[in-house]
Amino acid sequence: MKHDIWKFIAIILAAGLIGFMLGQALLGMLLACFAIIAWQIYRINLLFEWIENPRGNPMPEVSGQLYNLYRIISRNRNKNLKRKRQLSTYLSQFRKAVSAMPDAIVLIDDNGKIEWANKNADKVLGIRWPEDSNVRFSDLIRYPEVDQLLRQTTSKVEPAKPGVIVTSISNSDATINFKCVRYTNKTRMVIARDVSRLVQINQMHSDFVANVSHELKTPLTVLKGYVEILRDNAELPDKFTRPLSQMQLQTVRMELIVGDLLYLARLEDSDSIKPHEPVNVTSVVSTIVEAVGPLIEEKHHKLELDIDHSLELVGSQTELHSAFSNLITNAINYTPENGVINIKWYNGPDGAIFSVKDNGLGIAPQHINRLTQRFYRVDADRSRDGGGTGLGLAIVKHVLQRHMAELKISSEEGEGSSFACIFPAAESDQLNTLEQG
Ligand code: ADP
Repeated sequence: MKHDIWKFIAIILAAGLIGFMLGQALLGMLLACFAIIAWQIYRINLLFEWIENPRGNPMPEVSGQLYNLYRIISRNRNKNLKRKRQLSTYLSQFRKAVSAMPDAIVLIDDNGKIEWANKNADKVLGIRWPEDSNVRFSDLIRYPEVDQLLRQTTSKVEPAKPGVIVTSISNSDATINFKCVRYTNKTRMVIARDVSRLVQINQMHSDFVANVSHELKTPLTVLKGYVEILRDNAELPDKFTRPLSQMQLQTVRMELIVGDLLYLARLEDSDSIKPHEPVNVTSVVSTIVEAVGPLIEEKHHKLELDIDHSLELVGSQTELHSAFSNLITNAINYTPENGVINIKWYNGPDGAIFSVKDNGLGIAPQHINRLTQRFYRVDADRSRDGGGTGLGLAIVKHVLQRHMAELKISSEEGEGSSFACIFPAAESDQLNTLEQG
């Protein structure tokens, strides 16, 4: 900058000197100033032209401060170009990756129109890109569950909700899992996966367990019958009494396990049919309490009941009886003598809640997430001693799933546990609709 200023001053002074010699020093200096300004305007114009169209106009040969300006602009421009090239490489790589994904990916705008779809959208959903661009997604994919899923995806950007599984209309052997996530305020992404193979494997697995359980039922009944006859035989030598008692105990256990496995299989089989009868929870609880009365007395537990008699539910009375009974029996079994068992049925902030609390053994935190897995036990011996099959909480979880409810377990080792079944408000509200209808 300094260099430029000295140069201008020198030019003005020289012009002034020439002017002085000609008798017009001031005019000479003034003319020099105008020339400098005109020259600068010309150079700035060249700069603008170059900025606007760098390819068409080569970088002008300049010196001084303007040269520095050119250099900075040129450097930033090169940096931006590099970044742009990098971004477009990333974008094309991302598009290629999304296109190569085995899932169908469809982007839809706020009006439900298709903005983009990957290659597999054609294979899984029959949506073709770019042919189906701007077509309404719901005009091509007509499943009420998927429509509902799209409507539930709120206007906020949030993590994907659990998806819906539907049987394909065009091919009844195909099962598709739909998920929807909003990733900008205006765009939703539908992810559809063909889960037919997984569903088939699960079905084979369930069928196998159900068949084995069913096949075991008859031999077990025969075995149990003969063991009972032998045990009741007065002529039986003493040395056989204990082994036969053990055999009877084990056959009863096996019968319970087979019964629970068959019950789980039946629940899985009827997964597509939603239970919808009015359930009188008060009567369910009193039947269970009556049945477990002797057990409670035997362990000298104190039973606290806090039941909202007016609160009812839509679902299956037998399934809920089984789930609630499992929770209450567990509370009794896993609480040492003289414990307190609290059973509550009330309207909570998120819906109707059935909870069973005890002040028993409690459960260490690392076990809590796994309790509803089949045959998962914290202490297998204790479970067996209490007549447990290891399937009780798996049944509870499945029954609750069928009622759109969730199980919340909180526990502290040595302090006690709480198992709460939360039925969303819509499920308890349905009763009114059912009664009015
Ligand atoms: P089980 O037939 O063994 O009781 P469940 O599926 O009902 O099987 O329960 C799984 C395991 O969870 C039990 O083995 C036990 O370790 C633990 N559990 C369940 N309920 C309670 C409770 N109220 N207090 C402490 N532990 C419990």
